[in-house]
Amino acid sequence: MSSYTQSIQNLMSELARLPGIGMRSAERIAFHLLKQPPDEAMKLAEAIRDVKTRIRHCSACYNLTEQDPCSICADPSRDQGVVCIVEQPKDLLALEATGLYRGVYHVLLGRISPLEGVEPGDLTIDPLMRRLASGAVREIIMGTNPNMEGDGTALFVQSLIGGRFPGVQITRLARGLPSGSNIEYANKNILADAISGRQRM
Ligand SMILES: [Zn+2]
Repeated sequence: MSSYTQSIQNLMSELARLPGIGMRSAERIAFHLLKQPPDEAMKLAEAIRDVKTRIRHCSACYNLTEQDPCSICADPSRDQGVVCIVEQPKDLLALEATGLYRGVYHVLLGRISPLEGVEPGDLTIDPLMRRLASGAVREIIMGTNPNMEGDGTALFVQSLIGGRFPGVQITRLARGLPSGSNIEYANKNILADAISGRQRM
């Protein structure tokens, strides 16, 4: 590596800091970029700059957006009284892809994880409480991930809301057997959720 110029070394060490890219891949990408025509290679630099300068969090729901408020919050046909709480913008995208939900969202930007040092103050829980204080929200849907940390985060937020805004109804996404699956192949947790979350036929 000592024979590379300083700028090639800089590029490789920056690339190697990306997730899933080791030193060998960084070297390969760096030399690929060196071989490209300047305007081709600069597209990558411009894409990185665009994403860091244009994209920000919606001031209402913390979704990623190029306009504030985001297109979901600004949509008059969406029900502002129903707020689905999710951990990350990609969870919001997955729910939006169903095309079934007509409420709005609140993105926590993470989940409470004592092991990783993520505390309630690191999430967007305070802005959520301010949103609820406006009185416009009548239902909260917990859409955190159905695992230990997601459930723990949902319980924490639920107890906060229950204590301060008892008039707000709190629901959670139904869980259970995926359509098209077989009961014999479902794991124990899914079956347990399916039984406890059973619905009247
Ligand atoms: Zn928004």
